Amino acid sequence: MTPKVAAFLDSSALATPCLVLDLDRVAENYAALRHALPAAKIYYAVKANPAAPILRLLAGMGSCFDAASIQEINECVAAGAPPATISFGNTVKKPGAIAAAHALGVPLYAFDSLEELRKIASHAPGSKVYCRIAVNNVGADWPLSKKFGTTLDCARDLMLMAPQLGLVPHGLSFHVGSQQTGTVAYEMAIAEVAMLFTNLKAAGVDLKMLNLGGGFPVRYRDDVPGTDTFGDAIMTAMTKHFGNDLPDMLIEPGRAMVGNAGVVAAEVVLVCRRMPEDDRRWVYLDIGRFGGLAETEGEAIRYRITAGTGATGPVVLAGPSCDGVDIMYEKTPYRLPLDLQAGERVLIHDAGAYVTSYASQNFNGFTPLAEHYL
Ligand SMILES: *Cc1c(COP(=O)(O)O)cnc(C)c1O
Repeated sequence: MTPKVAAFLDSSALATPCLVLDLDRVAENYAALRHALPAAKIYYAVKANPAAPILRLLAGMGSCFDAASIQEINECVAAGAPPATISFGNTVKKPGAIAAAHALGVPLYAFDSLEELRKIASHAPGSKVYCRIAVNNVGADWPLSKKFGTTLDCARDLMLMAPQLGLVPHGLSFHVGSQQTGTVAYEMAIAEVAMLFTNLKAAGVDLKMLNLGGGFPVRYRDDVPGTDTFGDAIMTAMTKHFGNDLPDMLIEPGRAMVGNAGVVAAEVVLVCRRMPEDDRRWVYLDIGRFGGLAETEGEAIRYRITAGTGATGPVVLAGPSCDGVDIMYEKTPYRLPLDLQAGERVLIHDAGAYVTSYASQNFNGFTPLAEHYL
């Protein structure tokens, strides 16, 4: 938690749940990513946190944007991002959204199927396209591998077909999975896509761009390698496999740009033992799986959570809704103070990414968490 966030939490009688996020930390993260990979252009993955103050800050710093919908594209443009700096990175787009993006001047479109390539050809003729490759997501706490990407062979056929459809075959992309805790997945993916660059060049298609996706991790409860470690490993792998014929490099950090900038303040609603024989207390908070903590699904993202002071004991953590799956942590050991009471404040640290954007609308009447950008 940054001093600015701490001071704000101390001074204000805040309605909870809410996110308090320090924009200076976002600026620092942007600078750190630039420093770690100076050869790469940064396309902020808007879905991690689409708040206007974040988009305005990053647009002002010269960031580009990875958008998944026409709504996200419009939000970026409203925040001052030139359409030329936006990539329509979702491989699953509505035809009307492609046409609207094209009309705005968005130049770059992702695909991973022939059907999507045809849609882009119809609704954004002449655009630059890049094909997403499915890569191993080993090391990722929040994998993205099954739903997206195609094989190297299919990508080759599709890229050869793109010019016939009136499109510019511009590059390839991959995503090694979110909260990626190691460098191996990047190294393996770079080796694979480099082979396809070579193969396509021999076939007369000279690709210009490699989009390395996001995945860079945030330190939650466990230590993770620093941004520079990822930058060094990526540049070493790029040089090994591309020599001095490097393509334009793009990265699409989401979590690493905003995660550690924000803290969620929540309130304890109930502390009890479900059964007399329970050895753990159940702690119900005013935020849960439906209030924005969606990444606690499978206990995949394990936030650092603190409250009060004094001796602690083991707890199960659950949300306030009337849904049985609204339990955040049952298997992962969490401890909170033994004297914790309803009404007390709990802090969920490093929650700047993938919380506000996942909050449901009024489930059980609970309004989405408030947001404070400092
Ligand atoms: C979600 C997403 C990202 C951001 O991933 P992080 O792990 O948050 O860095 C980047 N690119 C694409 C295509 C995505 O879907």
